[in-house]
Amino acid sequence: MSDILPDEAAVWRRAEDNARAIFGQYGYQEIRTPILEETGLFKRSIGEETDIVQKQMYSFKDRGERDVSLRPEGTAPVVRAYLEHSLGNVLPVQRLYYIGPMFRNERPQAGRLRQFHQIGAEAIGSPSPYLDAEIISLMMGILAACGLGDVELKLNTLGCAKDKKAFEQALKKALAPLAGKVGSLCEDCAKRYEKNILRLFDCKNDGCRKALVAAPRITDYLCGSCSGQFDRIKELLDAAGIKYTLTPSLVRGLDYYTGVVFEASHKNLGSQDAVAAGGRYDNLIEGLGGSSTPACGFAIGTDRVLLAAKGTEIKKAGLDLFFIGLGDEAQKKAFSILSALRTKGVACQMGLDEKSLKSQMRLADRVGAKKVLILGDEELKKGVALLRDMETKTQKEIRLEDVTDTHLW
Ligand SMILES: [Zn+2]
Ligand SMILES: [Zn+2]
Repeated sequence: MSDILPDEAAVWRRAEDNARAIFGQYGYQEIRTPILEETGLFKRSIGEETDIVQKQMYSFKDRGERDVSLRPEGTAPVVRAYLEHSLGNVLPVQRLYYIGPMFRNERPQAGRLRQFHQIGAEAIGSPSPYLDAEIISLMMGILAACGLGDVELKLNTLGCAKDKKAFEQALKKALAPLAGKVGSLCEDCAKRYEKNILRLFDCKNDGCRKALVAAPRITDYLCGSCSGQFDRIKELLDAAGIKYTLTPSLVRGLDYYTGVVFEASHKNLGSQDAVAAGGRYDNLIEGLGGSSTPACGFAIGTDRVLLAAKGTEIKKAGLDLFFIGLGDEAQKKAFSILSALRTKGVACQMGLDEKSLKSQMRLADRVGAKKVLILGDEELKKGVALLRDMETKTQKEIRLEDVTDTHLW
């Protein structure tokens, strides 16, 4: 577990602020659950046979002899709260996010701490592929806002519970000749073969990897509805310009995943290169005592994101507009236009002093403005302003009366 010292804490806050801004853009609301939960919650949701439950949780009896654990992940607590407070009755689809520490007693190494931090989201209440695509797009947006615009997104599907089971059985059969022989699978995988066979795909051991090359693939065991669903998600990601790599070996070790699963990784990190991951978990809520409720979500490892992004400056979450008024009259006009824009939900700011255009442009860049509006005396007389797009570096003249048209922002 490590301290986050003041210099670093500023970077953390910036990353978290950016994440919050993006959650806001997608209409996700924050939920804060306790750090401590009943141990049974994690056993029932993550799975008794997973490494997390078997080896990694900080579990103990409290003074009332209750079995409790520091939360090792965020999904189970959010789902517990969703059920406990009947949030499904409040909105048909609940879009929730959380930011906070998680705890796992693992062997520490670069990018793996025992108290680590996650920025996560859960969208509960719909089986729509639009929701899968939305949650992936949201995750990628937050990573980009935290300075990681160049992650690799791996994508796979585990199908429904039936498909997953058929695949597990096929895998078991195909690997049966190896499972008995001593040494052909590593010690961990020999155990996984019996209890949680999909976890074999997470093994880094050469022998185990070789054994899996010719193994069956989940894609051959999908039912019509699951493969159609997966195709739709891919189409939507294509339409949104989100690049992905189809990765049939991506299985995610937690029991509750069904349907689409995904993971983002970054080249700056060594063997622990995943910075974010998630997927659909349509059976978890029912498994925890609720009615059958489809859901999906992701978690971003903040520690790893900041490690991977080291050296790249994390810009403040973008303003839609930075207004530069040159001269007193122009400043006044800017102020009134900004007031009108803010009531329409446009995030904007103006230069406050009479500094040069150049230094104000630099400031606009530093605050992450997407567009800059420049208004001088000449333009003011003509009733126009210069609108500069900071990304394409192009500018054009627009009429002042059109500035408050929200289609621009
Ligand atoms: Zn299926
Ligand atoms: Zn192995």
